[in-house]
This record gives sequence, structure tokens and C-alpha cells, in this order.
Amino acid sequence: MKKIIIAIDGNSGCGKSTTAKEVARRLGYAYVDSGAMYRSVALYFLDHGIDHLNSEQVNTALEKIDIGFQVGTNGRSETFLNGKNVEGSIRDMRVSDHVSKVSTVPAIRRAMVALQRKMGSDRGIVMDGRDIGTVVYPDAELKIFLTASLEVRAKRRQAELAASGKDVVLGDIESNLSDRDHADSTRAESPLKKAEGAVEIDTSDITIEQQVSQVVGLANKIIASA
Ligand code: C5P
Repeated sequence: MKKIIIAIDGNSGCGKSTTAKEVARRLGYAYVDSGAMYRSVALYFLDHGIDHLNSEQVNTALEKIDIGFQVGTNGRSETFLNGKNVEGSIRDMRVSDHVSKVSTVPAIRRAMVALQRKMGSDRGIVMDGRDIGTVVYPDAELKIFLTASLEVRAKRRQAELAASGKDVVLGDIESNLSDRDHADSTRAESPLKKAEGAVEIDTSDITIEQQVSQVVGLANKIIASA
């Protein structure tokens, strides 16, 4: 059966990762969280005092950074930075506050995009992010653009953080999300925008199950017609 690429883009907290993971599971496809890759770079930069505006430091650091994904004992895909599981630490607010600066740097984007294209070279992949349908896989057979109101997104992120034992006030999350929305959609390099031909789904008032079945339904139609 033909394998396709599914690109899922949208602002922070629209349920991209949750949707993408479950769509991948149901189709038996690989899942790649491209945001986790930028978060891993941001974590490395914070831990090693790398200035994202210093191109020499950035290039040297990029040579030392190895990012990968492995399925953990819980069956979930987890992020590894230089062999260490960083799935928890890349979600910390200090990383969330830094990542949008790091992701504006062209050399960093080039390195991540090259890695992301390599990961999907056999197709059969679901990847979520900001520029997957526009830059990484403009030839993806299915492109999805997710949206949701800021309030809904902040509440979802708060619940996610609480589930991993991190209590963060809603206002802090809302301001982090709106700062990142602004930074991600106005940056010069690969800004977040709806890709040509992308299907837009507003997730504010629908359940994860509804989101997932909508995407899986669209994917199955494309696969069947190939
Ligand atoms: O998806 P997530 O919120 O974890 O992404 C963290 C940050 O990584 C985003 O705010 C954005 O700055 C950056 N990012 C990006 N391009 C992607 C995925 C994420 O610039 N494809």
C-alpha cells in the first residue's frame, strides 16, 4: 500500500502533537515532533551558555548536537539529546521561553530541516511543527493546519504540565503562547503560515478523537486513491 507524508502545522497548543501521535499510531506510521528538535537545541544552548546570535558558537554547537527519537517503555516516542532522554526537560518553561529565539536562526533551521527530510525519506511519516507543509515537505500528500483559541490552548498546556507534576499559572502560559505565536508567525525565516492546499481544522470545540478521526479519514482517502 502506498505510504504518504502527513504534515501537521499550527500554533503552540493546538493539539498538534497529540493528534499527530495518534494518527501515526493508527496508520502504523512513524511520528516526528519537530518542535522537540528545536527545544532540544534550545536546551543544549541554555545548558552550555551558547549565544544563538554568535554564529561561530552556533556552528560549533550544531556539530556536537545529536537528536533522535526512541519509543519508550510506555510506548510513546521520546526525545534524546546526545544519548540522554530529555523528553521532560525540553518542556520546562525555561526552554519554552527560549526556543522561539533559537528557532529564528537560519543555520539552526537548515540543520533541523535536513534532519527532518532524512527522517521522512521512506515516507510513512506524520510530522508536526510550524513549517512542515511549507518548507520541510511542500510535497506532502496531506497537509493539515490546526488552530484553536488562545484560552483553550493555554488551558490544555496547563493540564499537560500539571499531569507531569508542574504547576504553572494560566497567565504565564498565555503570555508564553502569545509571545511564541507572534515570534513564530512574524519571523523572516520560515514563518508559521497555512501551507497551500492545507486543510484547516479549528480544534477549539472538538475532541481529540474528532480531530484524529478527521485526519485519519482524509489520509485513508488519499492512500486508497493512490
Ligand atoms: O511545537 P512546540 O510548541 O513544541 O515548538 C516549540 C517551538 O519550536 C515553537 O514555538 C517554534 O519556535 C519552534 N518550531 C519551529 N519550527 C517547527 C517546530 C517548532 O520553529 N517546525
